[in-house]
Amino acid sequence: MTVLFMPYRCGRCGYQIADLKEFELIPGTRCPICNYRIFYKVRPPIVKRLKI
Ligand SMILES: [Zn+2]
Repeated sequence: MTVLFMPYRCGRCGYQIADLKEFELIPGTRCPICNYRIFYKVRPPIVKRLKI
């Protein structure tokens, strides 16, 4: 199984962290732009393929 990293979005400025390494590099998990501490998980759009 492939585990995809769920992107995080800053609750204040909307800055999105899409890289797990970048997320871990931020001390205390704060937004690098506005220093906000609340992040929301961003769910990637689910792509469904239908077999015809
Ligand atoms: Zn921010």
